[in-house]
Amino acid sequence: MAVREILHVGNPLLRERSREVSRAELATPALQQLIDDLVDTMHAAAGAGIAAPQVGELVRIATIEVTNNARYPYKPPIPLTVVVNPIIEPLDDELVEINEGCLSVPNMRGNVMRFVNVRVRYWDREGGEHDETRRGLTAGTFQHECDHLDGVLFLDRVHDTRSLTTWDQFERFHRAAFVERITAFVERVGS
Ligand code: ZN
Repeated sequence: MAVREILHVGNPLLRERSREVSRAELATPALQQLIDDLVDTMHAAAGAGIAAPQVGELVRIATIEVTNNARYPYKPPIPLTVVVNPIIEPLDDELVEINEGCLSVPNMRGNVMRFVNVRVRYWDREGGEHDETRRGLTAGTFQHECDHLDGVLFLDRVHDTRSLTTWDQFERFHRAAFVERITAFVERVGS
């Protein structure tokens, strides 16, 4: 078990494009340990996902998991998923406005537009190939983590900076309306 330090916005490594890994490299103890560390760090921080550059490793690997998440209780569950070399493509032009936060942007949330229906191709930690359709908030989580691999933070996608809030002000003034809207959305599209 190794919980790694999470880099915060302002660290130049978060703005780099991470590189693809080969299957041979993925099989090495170093990268398998990195994946374990990402899972441990994501769990320790109660994140819905974490990408390798957030712990300073510029490789295209991220982990995602949502189980009764304290930070995002309205998110549908996602079993632990390790994504390696992900390629994400929108399946249509439907968008949804999601209020997001990020472990690398402490105490800040804001509204971003995300594609509702995406195709995600990736390898798992053993190099097995996956080709999946993800929808709704789960699609948003995949887009957020894949953005990290290209040096993009959710802040870059906040189209109205007046939506930015601290976490306690979100709870106080914005949470109820957002949860009502997004719960109706989740019921409509599923995850
Ligand atoms: Zn993030």
